[in-house]
Amino acid sequence: MSLDTPISPLFPASKAPTATHIVYLALGSNLGDRRGNLAAALQQLREVITIETVSSVYETEPIGYLEQPRFLNIACCGKTWLSAQELLHSTQAIEVAIGRQPTFRNGPRPIDIDILLYDDLHMQDNQLTIPHPRMAERAFVLAPLAEISPNVVNPVNGQTAASLTGGRYPLSAQPAHHTGP
Ligand code: AMP
Repeated sequence: MSLDTPISPLFPASKAPTATHIVYLALGSNLGDRRGNLAAALQQLREVITIETVSSVYETEPIGYLEQPRFLNIACCGKTWLSAQELLHSTQAIEVAIGRQPTFRNGPRPIDIDILLYDDLHMQDNQLTIPHPRMAERAFVLAPLAEISPNVVNPVNGQTAASLTGGRYPLSAQPAHHTGP
């Protein structure tokens, strides 16, 4: 047998994903073991995001529907190889895995995961709006976001997280603990 014939590769090219998209997420919990729920969500997010920074834990008053327990909130940032839509499917699967039931808007939940920013993407479809449409109004999002990345810019309005907080946190979004979840 001659060894001069072309070599035929029997293995596919590496499919190792390259994490190139920078994402910022906000997580909240006000049912059950709130801190444990945040930790479980972060652990599951690590399957699809290389998480680089996690904020302090903030305790915040509920908004909208007030007759419910206080929330614990964090923000995190990292890199992912998923598209924005794929990331939403992952975060929704994690919410269900941690016990989220269908509820009303601003209602109580063991975990809520919002995609705040995805690179400098600006998009809106039936399922997903990026940047998150209400991030600029919510102290429970802005305080942890400004802590981990004060200079991150909302691509829609050009404002940094630090400028949106007005330089100080509202009283309803004080750090509850300074350690990670
Ligand atoms: P919520 O009850 O606040 O968790 O809202 C969940 C709904 O918001 C889901 O139906 C999502 O499809 C939708 N949604 C739109 N934009 C986003 C976003 N940037 N991050 C997470 N959920 C989003």
